[in-house]
Amino acid sequence: MSELHSFIFEGLPVRGQIVRLTDSWQEVLSRREGSQTGPWPLPVRNLLGEMAAASLLMQSSIKFNGALELQIQGDGPIKLAVAEAQPDLSFRATAKVMAGIDDHAHLADLVNGNGQGRCAITLDPQDRQPGQQPYQGIVPLAAADGTRLQRLSDMIQHYMRQSEQLDTVLVLAADDRVAAGLLIQRMPLEGKGNLQAGRADEEALAEDYNRIATLAASLKPEELLSLDAETVLRRLFWEERLMRFEPRVGETAPRFSCRCSRARVVNMLRSLGREELDSILEERGQIEVSCDFCGNEERFDAVDVAGMFTALQDAPPGTQSVQ
Ligand SMILES: [Zn+2]
Repeated sequence: MSELHSFIFEGLPVRGQIVRLTDSWQEVLSRREGSQTGPWPLPVRNLLGEMAAASLLMQSSIKFNGALELQIQGDGPIKLAVAEAQPDLSFRATAKVMAGIDDHAHLADLVNGNGQGRCAITLDPQDRQPGQQPYQGIVPLAAADGTRLQRLSDMIQHYMRQSEQLDTVLVLAADDRVAAGLLIQRMPLEGKGNLQAGRADEEALAEDYNRIATLAASLKPEELLSLDAETVLRRLFWEERLMRFEPRVGETAPRFSCRCSRARVVNMLRSLGREELDSILEERGQIEVSCDFCGNEERFDAVDVAGMFTALQDAPPGTQSVQ
């Protein structure tokens, strides 16, 4: 079963999380496998699994009241890769890719062939007012010296330091069974004492963080995939004093969930205009729209399309048509 564990290091401004997606991640893959397009190539599955794990870790460390979306706008065979996590730890993920991706292809070549790829992190508040824009941070997929970043975790560590001012260590891994991640973060210091004592404290705390960060970074992807959270924590931090929070398991565990609906599809189709829809109907007899995230398919015939446009005009004043 999928799970998320949170912990802090007693007396130190350092916190951490481990996420382990099993059944929920397998559901994402099996929905895709059962769709018309068939499964994503291996490196894409691995990237999406890491993105799903990372979006949940970021969501639960930022504690944002809204959707957190991690999106790679690729410059290479991966055109787009998206993972989205909600405050209740439901998540979804999808990708648009070109055919012919090699099983051994490197991430940098897949998403950043000519150095133009980028990663966007969007925070979309739940109670967003009409006209209000979601917050978005852009992370280049290359370091300042132009070196292309090789791992998703590098990009996110960079983002957390730049945008959230949080030193972060992130280890991510995914295969077809498990998508998992470990996040260690230095919490901002509050209420420093007099300057000199403050500085000495700060140095000691920096040393503590560096020690824990080094331990965390020593975790290998294959360990993260094969070991349960208890074993990972014991192996890495057996000399530290950890305080654990109630794990998110069972009903509160991370899970796959899609936010698509027929009503949203209707709104999207309506925006294309009657003429466009009629020409599709003429050509194919019906309009089929399937969701990239969950594979759910909605079909519309001529009567449905007519209803999309007449219902608006025929509705009595003050009412809204519900499709
Ligand atoms: Zn869907």
